[in-house]
Amino acid sequence: MSVFVSSTGRGLVNKSIREQVLSFSVEHARGSRSAVLHRQSQPREDSHSRRSYGTLKILDPKEIPNAHTSSPWTMQVQQCDQRRTNVNIADLDKTRDGRERVVILGSGWGGYPLSKKLDHKKYQVVIVSPRSYFVFTPLLASTSVGTLEFRTALEPIRNRRSKTRYIQGWADDVDLYNKTITIEEAVADPHQGLALTGDRDEGKDQVQIDYEMRTKLRKGRLFDLRYDKLVISVGSYSQTFGTTGVREHANFLKDVGDARKIRKRLLECFEMAALPTTTDEVRRQILHFAIVGGGPTGIEFSAELHDLLHTDMTKIYPELIQFAKITLYDVSPKVLNMFDAGLQEYATDAFSRRGIDIKTSRRIMELANGLPGVDPEVQAGRPGLTLKVKDEEDLGIGMCIWSTGLMMNPFIHKALSAIRRFPPKEVIFKESYQDAEVAQWHIARDAKTGSIMTNDRLRVMIDAPYPNGDGSMKAHLRDVFAIGDCSFIQNTMYPATAQVANQKADWLAKSLNANDLHGDHRFRYNNLGIMAYIGNAKAIVMGAKGVGNMSGTTAWLMWRGVYLSKSISWRNRILIPMYWFLNWAFGRDISRF
Ligand SMILES: Cc1cc2nc3c(=O)[nH]c(=O)nc-3n(C[C@H](O)[C@H](O)[C@H](O)COP(=O)(O)OP(=O)(O)OC[C@H]3O[C@@H](n4cnc5c(N)ncnc54)[C@H](O)[C@@H]3O)c2cc1C
Repeated sequence: MSVFVSSTGRGLVNKSIREQVLSFSVEHARGSRSAVLHRQSQPREDSHSRRSYGTLKILDPKEIPNAHTSSPWTMQVQQCDQRRTNVNIADLDKTRDGRERVVILGSGWGGYPLSKKLDHKKYQVVIVSPRSYFVFTPLLASTSVGTLEFRTALEPIRNRRSKTRYIQGWADDVDLYNKTITIEEAVADPHQGLALTGDRDEGKDQVQIDYEMRTKLRKGRLFDLRYDKLVISVGSYSQTFGTTGVREHANFLKDVGDARKIRKRLLECFEMAALPTTTDEVRRQILHFAIVGGGPTGIEFSAELHDLLHTDMTKIYPELIQFAKITLYDVSPKVLNMFDAGLQEYATDAFSRRGIDIKTSRRIMELANGLPGVDPEVQAGRPGLTLKVKDEEDLGIGMCIWSTGLMMNPFIHKALSAIRRFPPKEVIFKESYQDAEVAQWHIARDAKTGSIMTNDRLRVMIDAPYPNGDGSMKAHLRDVFAIGDCSFIQNTMYPATAQVANQKADWLAKSLNANDLHGDHRFRYNNLGIMAYIGNAKAIVMGAKGVGNMSGTTAWLMWRGVYLSKSISWRNRILIPMYWFLNWAFGRDISRF
């Protein structure tokens, strides 16, 4: 895989850098050198990215060994040529066969189904994502406790039949004028497979960021890719609200690496508790599992954990089960807010009957290392955590699962805040504006969440204030689309769910395949209902379109049926019921690796 990534990389960079060199050379020829230099040292205006054209161009020739030319730009290109002898864009271009290139950023519920449904005879489809697979998120909670194997919640982007081209990298920047995106390779990135909670460069100062960027550029770890159509579906990060210690010590549940970490830690807690030298007080604390967030993810994880404890752990560690406890916290007065009151009550009653403590209207203040009130000598080798809840005593726990909502992907803010140059051909105006060409346009975003605003054909919207400050001009980009959790449709309140992301992907694929992005053909969300597993072979279903609400075992059968049928590959449709049966017959696999 890394060979492919590199081999795609070089030509792209070289081509792009050459184009940029060319465009700057033309300007150089036309204008004065000082004007060009001024431009080069200005931050790039079409992005709040940490990089700037200045950074790209003003490399000191002395920094580049064996430089023989007088222009730093030419040297930069030469440097790239020297370092990337085995990489080539021709591969991607050769197989294009006159097709338009659709670049999809992200391989989640928006990007992956879109890549599968686009007509590959018509489009060359390239996914850029740090994750080489798609995650079927509704099954993550089951995989984290061993009800299902991790494999069953994944679909690899590359497979023997796939025609989609893939580059394992982070989209770092977008140049709307030249229709290129800048990619940072991610093959060896330690963040992949895990939930992200903040900017990857957080904590670094600008000098360090610039230095690292130059190094990456020189080493070919940063390169450009041209697109004809761009689909942004980079999803969201996990929200921590800046709560002290959460990023460092909590577990999240957003990707398969998170599920693996949770399973490992759970079993670790039981093994630590099983040591003959562990005191009962420590056992009570490290077998206490706290879940923060009473949305469907927090509830489903609590339910799956309860199933694991009371069907398998109770037989495997009979002497320890008396110490095990689950507590779920939420800052709001109720859990499962998106469900009807009757279903909420059904779920909370079921939880309390089973001994899962639901603590609402609680604010978590901190998550710290170490168990409260336990001598550090006694704790040695049995690491635990302290959960500090407002107005409550410190609580010793073995693990905290944090699931309190979404935070906008920092890429959206960094790469898409403002537009440096106005791309006239690429814009469709709502009406004709006199000052359009001189106005400062921005990507339209939600003021509160920061997500990208699109129209109901999923095209990214841009706006610019009128020069007199009275209102704003509106337009949308012809070839740039946004779907999934990182976007919303103007004047709508569709939830950030897989259902919405998947329907948008479907609609966009059909529309692009049929060249039908005009007239009355617009995206409409079709609410198919929501459901949540609440443990002990029971679920709740809030139906839509005349289908009533359901709860209990019938709802659980429906929950299983729906997710099985929605699974993408036949491989997983076969594997999932097999694991359900195996675990029912022989118990969950609790090996720790
Ligand atoms: C545990 C869990 C259970 C859920 N259950 C349900 C459910 O039952 N029903 C439901 O409707 N919804 C559910 N959801 C919500 C659903 O998963 C999300 O709404 C959905 O994943 C959003 O799809 P997306 O494509 O926008 O983002 P994601 O699926 O998160 O995908 C984002 C992709 O972008 C990539 N990416 C990130 N940054 C960059 C970058 N800079 N450049 C390139 N790529 C990038 C990521 O690696 C990833 O591949 C669940 C979510 C979780 C976490």
